[in-house]
Amino acid sequence: MTGAPFWCLSDSSAIRSALVDLDRQMMLRLFHHDGYGSIDLNERVSSSPEPASPSDAHDQLDELVRWLRSWQVSYWKICGWSHTAYVGESAPALTEVTSALCAHLDGILSHTEYAVDFGSGVLSWHSEVTAAAQTRPRRISMQMRCPQCHLATLPRLEGEDRIECRNRDCGANRGGPVVMTADEYHGLAEAVIVASGRRR
Ligand SMILES: [Zn+2]
Repeated sequence: MTGAPFWCLSDSSAIRSALVDLDRQMMLRLFHHDGYGSIDLNERVSSSPEPASPSDAHDQLDELVRWLRSWQVSYWKICGWSHTAYVGESAPALTEVTSALCAHLDGILSHTEYAVDFGSGVLSWHSEVTAAAQTRPRRISMQMRCPQCHLATLPRLEGEDRIECRNRDCGANRGGPVVMTADEYHGLAEAVIVASGRRR
């Protein structure tokens, strides 16, 4: 069952770093796609060609956790180890399963039935998630200023109906930044236009 290593030293260390880094890359992916990117008030609309919907990141996380877990369950079984039955798919679950697999990576990578498929699977998952983590959804700046903090900080993530003020100090004493739907925004914008018309 276990024997000569299937991967050379540099390949197996590449697999190890990819497995460790998967967690971090997935966090980045979730971070960007939830719209919590770094705040730069002068940031222009990014030009990512194919913005993914926020749920794509969560779908990918779920799929990755399921994939890693199936390897863990199977490998633990042939080793005769017991493993905790995890519930749900989430970021902590990913951390847990990657570190469990990391701890036994040497064994897995020298096992005839696991080495090749698991090792190459980890590498391809890593490049897929890394590529996705670098693609941020397009952020469209809205014309109207924030009704609460009066800064030009209202963006909309393409494909989403939610507009949230990006000024973290917005509404500090009033329960946080302004959040509204596109309809609410347009309603407000119309009201502003009507009001400015009256002032003339
Ligand atoms: Zn604001």
